[in-house]
Amino acid sequence: MRIGRRVSKVRSQAALVRFLFQTRYAAKRLTNLAMNESEFRSGKIALKSLPSFLFLDVACVCTLKCPLCYLGQGLEGRSRGKMSMDTFCRAIDEFRDHGIVAHLYIRGEPLMNKQLPEMIEYANRAHLMTVISTHLNLLDKGMAEALIDSGLKKLVVSLDGATEETYSTYRVGGNWDDVLRNIEVLNEMKRRKKARFPKIVLQFLVFKFNLHEVGPIKRLADSLGVELSLQQGCLGGPLYEPYTGEHSPELIDRWIVPPDVLQDALSSTGSRPGVLFDYHRKDETLCDERCFFLWKTAYINWDGNVSPCCFVYQQDRDFGNIHHEPFRNIWNNPKFRHARSLFLEASTGREGRETAVCDACRMYRKPS
Ligand code: SF4
Ligand code: SF4
Repeated sequence: MRIGRRVSKVRSQAALVRFLFQTRYAAKRLTNLAMNESEFRSGKIALKSLPSFLFLDVACVCTLKCPLCYLGQGLEGRSRGKMSMDTFCRAIDEFRDHGIVAHLYIRGEPLMNKQLPEMIEYANRAHLMTVISTHLNLLDKGMAEALIDSGLKKLVVSLDGATEETYSTYRVGGNWDDVLRNIEVLNEMKRRKKARFPKIVLQFLVFKFNLHEVGPIKRLADSLGVELSLQQGCLGGPLYEPYTGEHSPELIDRWIVPPDVLQDALSSTGSRPGVLFDYHRKDETLCDERCFFLWKTAYINWDGNVSPCCFVYQQDRDFGNIHHEPFRNIWNNPKFRHARSLFLEASTGREGRETAVCDACRMYRKPS
């Protein structure tokens, strides 16, 4: 790890801990976080800890047609809809004493749920740090003001191009000028209200088509006065099924930047590459890490269904539903326990006769 990355990682962890100490239940939350990390590292199957990081799909709908997104491509496999306030509150209530961050998105466009500001306020009252990720084509002044007043902490904007032409290669149906204008509207309103939050972060997914704009997007983010987050552009969903083992050489060749090239590009802007998937590997898995989703994160869909991670798009592969039983029961149900056991030495034995979508997943390495 380079010094710049280490400093930046320490800073972001410090910011999280600082936030935590300003909240209620700080001791309980920190204890849960520490126990969760320990259970992840030691490979516990039935967990005493609960995930600190919650993802809620407040709107499983979108107006864009991104070519690698199942929503954008209109593919079947999961019902579409917007989360009700009832489902949202039920989920938040389960996380209020141990959760830390509530991300109000998984796959869709959160601004399409008009109750979003109300939801953020509810999560804030539960002392959770709130984050949304949006394509930001749909912002009107009323929503901009409501978001700032709601206490939202972080607003991530998808902008994968430093020019309209590059942007529209991926964000099909979006308008680059509108996104920039909307960032300025938010900046201006924050200035007027003297609001520190939400912190605005430009997220640029690095694919082959936009690799040449890594430098220009950094300059653009600086000129807008917002932070930049460069991330690996991944393949997921039905166009690339990690859990059916179907590699698509054409898709990889068309979109994916080799990790060493990506690493260099990210480092040139001082970004932290983090864990990178290597789609060009010929062996079984795309990365050597243990899958952290099964220990550290909760993914709750718009209808209350619980998915093990954001890669799983088919509803019939979910692990439960919070309207049928509490999340804490689902978290240690046979599917979750079986899925975790896949990442332990086979000699320790697999848990139960269950099967899960994770059996065939090739994103993370399972010991043989
Ligand atoms: S903006 Fe997001 S949810 Fe919408 S089509 Fe693109 S990737 Fe999918
Ligand atoms: S093993 Fe694969 S499918 Fe299962 S949670 Fe991890 S990334 Fe998702």
